Amino acid sequence: MQSFKTSDPAAPPASVVADTGAAVSPASAFIDDLVVANHILFDHGIVDAFGHVSVRHDRDPDRFLLSRNLAPGSVKPEDIVEFDLQGDPVNAHGRSLYLERFIHSEIYKARPDVMAIVHSHSPAVLPFGLVQGVKFRPVCHMCGFLGQGAPVYEIRQWAGEATDLLIRSNALGRSLAETLGETSLVLMRGHGSTVVGPSLKQAVYRAIYAEVNARLQSEAMRLGPVTYLSSEEAETSLETVESHIERPWALWKARVVRD
Ligand code: MN
Repeated sequence: MQSFKTSDPAAPPASVVADTGAAVSPASAFIDDLVVANHILFDHGIVDAFGHVSVRHDRDPDRFLLSRNLAPGSVKPEDIVEFDLQGDPVNAHGRSLYLERFIHSEIYKARPDVMAIVHSHSPAVLPFGLVQGVKFRPVCHMCGFLGQGAPVYEIRQWAGEATDLLIRSNALGRSLAETLGETSLVLMRGHGSTVVGPSLKQAVYRAIYAEVNARLQSEAMRLGPVTYLSSEEAETSLETVESHIERPWALWKARVVRD
């Protein structure tokens, strides 16, 4: 099969691209955590056959790890591929890749503080990217990472009205990273959302609790005018809750790891 580098202007939107360079081997426990993260997100219904989770490389900040093109619930250690920040693989060896890997590469490039990223189409969150005048904001202390509310990415502003809504190029990845700005979660109109964190465990936690916040906020809005967390409450509760990140991780991991 013919394969292109992502940066090649003649390259079609491709899931099979040439490797660039050699892999920097991460610790195997690190890869194991990424596999567990895939399974936890599937177990919680955040991803199904689609969606993905990545982590910045522990030995090279200009690299990240992401599964090959596979349903997250099926990911095994040997499926993890290392990428550079152009979204090109270094050890794919011709295996098919996620078309939307540029979500990850461009956010890692724009945000040195981001160590992990979850992209999903989780269903309770998605409506908040659709409705004008409604902001996705934290309604409980578990969701302080939402700060003063999530920005909405409108792909039509960047690529016209006839796309498939996928982030399938470096340029679209850059525009998404720009809309994300310094926040932790960006809604993607008609598509889903992307959440970032300072560690893999926090990114997984946030993806799960974004869905919880969405259900709570929708429910509250049906009842009447909503009181949201203040920015100070969001910040303080974020610090408290995410300092206990090992507790939910251990619980969620035990559900998906079988000997
Ligand atoms: Mn997607």
